[in-house]
Parts: sequence; structure tokens; C-alpha cells
Amino acid sequence: METTHKKKHSLLNHLIYLYRGMWQEDPKYIWCIVIRAMSDMLLPLLSSATVATIVAIVSQEEGWQRHRAIFTSLLITTLISLCCSQVLQNYNTQSGNGYRVGKMNAMLAKLIRVPYQKNEQKDTIQLLNRVMNVVYTPQGAFQNGFLVLYNFLRNLTGLIIYSYLISNIHPILVAVLIFFSLLQYRYSLKTNKIEKENKDLQAPLKKKTDYLVNETGDFKAAKDMRLFHMEPWFEQEFDGMYEKRFSLMGKVFRRKFNGTVLESGFALIRDGLAYYILISQITNGSISAGDFSFYFGIIASISRWTTGLMKDLVDFHYMGGELADYRAYDSLDMNQDKGNRTTEGLRLPVEIEFRNVSYRYDGAETNTIHNLNWHIQAGEKVGMIGINGAGKSTIIKLLCGLYQPTTGEILINGIPQEEFSEESYYDLFAPVFQDYYELPITLAETIKQGEGDQTEDYEKVLNWSGMEQEIAKFPQKDQTKLVKSVNDDAVDLSGGQKQKLQLARAIYKNAPVLILDEPTAALDPIAESRVYQRYNAIAKDKTSIFISHRLSSTKFCDRLIYLENGTIVEAGTHEELMVKKGKYAEMFTIQSQYYQEEWEGKVNV
Ligand code: ADP
Repeated sequence: METTHKKKHSLLNHLIYLYRGMWQEDPKYIWCIVIRAMSDMLLPLLSSATVATIVAIVSQEEGWQRHRAIFTSLLITTLISLCCSQVLQNYNTQSGNGYRVGKMNAMLAKLIRVPYQKNEQKDTIQLLNRVMNVVYTPQGAFQNGFLVLYNFLRNLTGLIIYSYLISNIHPILVAVLIFFSLLQYRYSLKTNKIEKENKDLQAPLKKKTDYLVNETGDFKAAKDMRLFHMEPWFEQEFDGMYEKRFSLMGKVFRRKFNGTVLESGFALIRDGLAYYILISQITNGSISAGDFSFYFGIIASISRWTTGLMKDLVDFHYMGGELADYRAYDSLDMNQDKGNRTTEGLRLPVEIEFRNVSYRYDGAETNTIHNLNWHIQAGEKVGMIGINGAGKSTIIKLLCGLYQPTTGEILINGIPQEEFSEESYYDLFAPVFQDYYELPITLAETIKQGEGDQTEDYEKVLNWSGMEQEIAKFPQKDQTKLVKSVNDDAVDLSGGQKQKLQLARAIYKNAPVLILDEPTAALDPIAESRVYQRYNAIAKDKTSIFISHRLSSTKFCDRLIYLENGTIVEAGTHEELMVKKGKYAEMFTIQSQYYQEEWEGKVNV
């Protein structure tokens, strides 16, 4: 994806994209860069001219009276340029920062809408990591672009004007300066390439180091780390990681050092030759002492402009790569070819059909879901059973529209899933997943965050989910906040409380399809039995899918499917499957046998 983008646009196109964006945001950004560059470019010229005037006065080549006006105007212009440069430098830094933060916010807004499936793909994750650097750090193209453009304009105009002035002394001087600068540029590019290679090589190591640093400092990991003596593993990994990074850095440093020595050598020859020519001119009397000091300053500036210009070109190249990544990310298809049909007015409860659905994970060699055909009647309560890895969660993610089938289609009331707009489609589902993500908001806000137009009565939701008793335990009741790392007065919920909270949120959403993935795994038997008793009320008028390993819980489902290797191997009611004496019956018998034996005292627990 990113390679096609890099090929699609030239470096010039990327730079036009960057600076046109700045101009569109505020033309003042560009004007200020231009004015600052011009004033800074003139400053050395002004100071060289001032020194030359002083030398001329002191050496009494000409009288003070004749030079007073020139000297005063040079001084005033220098002061104005200095003030201008200072004010605009501050403005540029601020506007660069503001522009970058704007891009960062836009990227984050996009990030939370990137299709789930894309977010899991290796390519997208790598691209995202690179784009993060572009928008998060001042060194990224969006902020650094201000500085690089300023440098480039100052160095280029400086080089042209100063070269023109120096050509009066000796035309060969300009040729010498340009020739060695080009050589220097060639080596700068090489050094830059080495640096880039180094960054790419370091990236995976840096990711691992970041992981280790985060985990060591993470409060959640501290318990396991201490009780299971994980410290030696961390120490060993830390040592190994740093050794690898230092060895890589050492190699790169040596290669870079050689490049830098060559670059400096070229600069030395260039400046040495220029000064030699200038000194010859004064010794053979072709120029005056005033001229000598003027041109001496000019040569020093030309050296700075050329070296700077070479660096700017290298920076432009680097920014081009960053912008290619950013644009590749920016052009990610957000709608995943979704239609714009809404789910409003859909016949309720909905019926669902999986038609020849197969799914293969990104990079996997085989399908995880194999040609699944499954029809869920309107209002049916289906139980989904299967050993770990059978494909239950994948099927749920496919149904919810988080993944798109590799082949086949999913239909809601006979309408293909992709005809619905993404947002409207998500409104169809109220899931309780096994993994749960907490936001640093209150319990009440957590429950109501998925609020649609029709919502269940809040009090009833608290009661059905079991959150009522939990909330009563907190001094701030449902205004209790979550996530301790953000809110000092937040609570840490137990596994059971988290599950009840999730259930409350799902019931409150009151969506047409209720999905409960092991919704009682963390509940105590009393709380679990309350959920079972209320399941009929919770799932009333809805199509629902209940995933559970506790087979007693699936008895109240209208129909059960037993999955193996991503395909349905048995389907029917509990009674039908028991009579069939297949996989389900075997699983059920093993489980119930354990309870029976325990009850009869055959097992000592
Ligand atoms: P279940 O929910 O029944 O335990 P899953 O749907 O989670 O099963 O997983 C089914 C298979 O797909 C497993 O072999 C699992 O390793 C694989 N799998 C799950 N998620 C991913 C993923 N993001 N990338 C690659 N393979 C995955």
C-alpha cells in the first residue's frame, strides 16, 4: 500500500502537498517564513558591509563624512532585520507546532474510525507506527517543514546573491564553491541513507524495548512479575536488547563517521581555495582592505549557505518519505466499500444468515472459518458451543461487521451486510465481549455511552445486570469514576463487576441483536443464576447469541450449534443433540459427570 503511494507521487508532489496545505491553513504561515528567510539572508551581508565601512573609515581610505550616511543606514537596517527575524522565529515555531497538532488531531480522529480488520493488519500497524512519528514529534514533516522551508529559502537566495557578489572577485571562485558543495551533497545523501537504514533496523528493537519498559512500570504486571519470578526474564531481555541496539548503533556510527569526515574534507578544500584566492587578490593589490573584509565575510556566508542548502535537500528527501507514509495512511479506505443503507425501519426482530462464509486472517495460510452456512431465525436464541479456537469469536466479529468475509456473505433480513452504512450497521448489535475496554468516565456514563434513540429504563437495566448492588457499595454510586491512572478517585472493578457493567451497557443499548460471549465467566454462582433467570427478559423481542462453556446455560437456548475448526458440526436443541450422542453430548456428559462425581463424593477437591 505504502509502496504504491511512494511510487504514485514524486518528491516535488509531496512538497507541494505539504506547503499548499500550510498555505490553505493560513497564508500568513508562508509569508512569515519568506520574510524571515529574506531578513536572515541579508543579515550577514549587512554586517560584512558594516565591517567593510568601518575598515574603510579606519584605514582612512575615504573620510568619515562620506560614510556617515551609509554607516547609519546599514546599522538601522541591521537592527530592523534582527528584530524582524526574532519576532518571526517565535511566530514560526508557534504556528509550526499548531499546524502539527491540528494534523495529529485529524489523524487520531481517523485512527478511531479505521476499519477494525485493517487495524489488525501488519502493514497498517507498521504504517501507523511511522505516521505517529510524523505527527507526534516536532521533527516530523508537518512542524519541521516550517524550519526546512525557511532554511531552504534563506540558503538558496543567499547562495545566488552572495555568489553574484563574489563573482566580481574571480569567476572561478563560484565554480569552486559549487563543485565542492555538490560533492558534499552526494555524501550527505549517503549519510542520510545510512541513518534511515539504521532507523528501520532499530524499529523492531525499539518496539520491544518500549514494551519491556511499559510492562516493568505497569501496575497490572507487578503482581505476576513478583509472584512468578519474572524479573530475571525482564533483566535478560533488557540486557540482550541493549546489546543488540548498541552493536547496531556502533556499526552505523562508524559508517556515518567516515561519511562526515569526507564531507568536512570537501568543505575544507572549498573554503581553503576561496580564501587563498581572496588573499592573493589583496596581496597583489587588486582589492582594498575594506573590500577584503567585505568579501571575507561573504565567503564565510557562502560556505554556510551551501552546506545548509545541501542539508535542506537531504531534509526534503526525508520529509518526502514521511509525507508518502502520511498520505498512504490518509488515503486508507475508511468505508470499506460499505453502502449507505440505514437500519432504521428494519423488520424486528431481525433474522441473520451466513451464506457460504469463509474467513482467512491476514497472513494466515488457511481459512479459520470454512464455508459457514447458518440461518438464525428472527427472535431466535441461539447457543454457540465449541472448544477454544473453534472460531466462535471470529464468527461474532464477522457478524458484527468488524471483519469482512473473505468469501461468501452475511445477510440481515435478506439484505447483504455491505449495503448498510458502517455506523448504522453497528447499531444492530449489543455485545458483551470477553475482553473489555474501560474509559476514564463514570459508571453511569459507561452504561449509557452506546445510547440510541430507544433505550431501556436505566433502573431496570441496573437491576437486571446486577449492577444495582455493586453501585450501592460505592460512596459516589453511579457517579464513581473508572481508570485509576487517569482519575485519582477512580475504583478498580473486580472481574465480576466488570462483567456486570458490560452486561448493563449491552442491555441499555437495546439493540436488535444481543451477543453474549461467556457473559457469566467471572460471576459467582448466585449472580450467574440471576443472569440465567433474567435471560429471557433481557433477550425478549431480540435475536440473541449466547456463547458459553457452561453447558447448563445453553439449555434455555432455542437451538444450539456446535463448532469445530470454523465449521458447524452439529445443530439442534439440547435434547436433540443429547439423543444424537455426538460431540455436544460428549462434552456435556464430561462436564455433568464431574459435578455428579463431586456430589457423590468420588472426587476429593
Ligand atoms: P474461539 O473464540 O472459538 O476460541 P477464535 O475465533 O478466537 O476461537 O479463533 C479461531 C482461530 O483463529 C484460532 O486458531 C486462533 O488462533 C485464530 N485467530 C484468532 N484471532 C486471530 C488473529 N487476529 N490473527 C490470526 N489468527 C487468529
